[in-house]
Amino acid sequence: MSIPGADRKHSKKRDAILAKVQSTDSHPGAQWVYDQLKSDIPDLSLATVYRNINLFRQEGAVASVGVIDGEERFDGRVDPHSHFVCGGCGRVFDYDTPELSAEFSKVLENLKDLAYTQEGFVIDYRKTVFNGLCPECAKAKTTA
Ligand SMILES: [Zn+2]
Ligand SMILES: [Zn+2]
Repeated sequence: MSIPGADRKHSKKRDAILAKVQSTDSHPGAQWVYDQLKSDIPDLSLATVYRNINLFRQEGAVASVGVIDGEERFDGRVDPHSHFVCGGCGRVFDYDTPELSAEFSKVLENLKDLAYTQEGFVIDYRKTVFNGLCPECAKAKTTA
């Protein structure tokens, strides 16, 4: 596959997929990325989106948030941070206030000691996912 035109086209798709994941803080799945790009790139396939996002994940350019409602969700923000998953609307939020981070840092230091002295595990970092209701869904529930 050394046709220059094909390579350019290939990297154009790659760039567009990465830019789309990085353009939003909604932690999209591959389907959303595909839906956003298909009008601009008519020969794009969902399989190509999946393949490229997986490559970005391996390269560390994109992080996986895990499977939510049966679909793997991705994050263009790759520094460690906490997430909040709403059980009502399925949205994924970055949830990392300074207060929360400070509390977690304290807890994590204790856990590191415990994990190592009790079991021999060495903790590098934490990834926290909170589950519950986002402000909108919580409000809708109380007013319903
Ligand atoms: Zn919600
Ligand atoms: Zn995030």
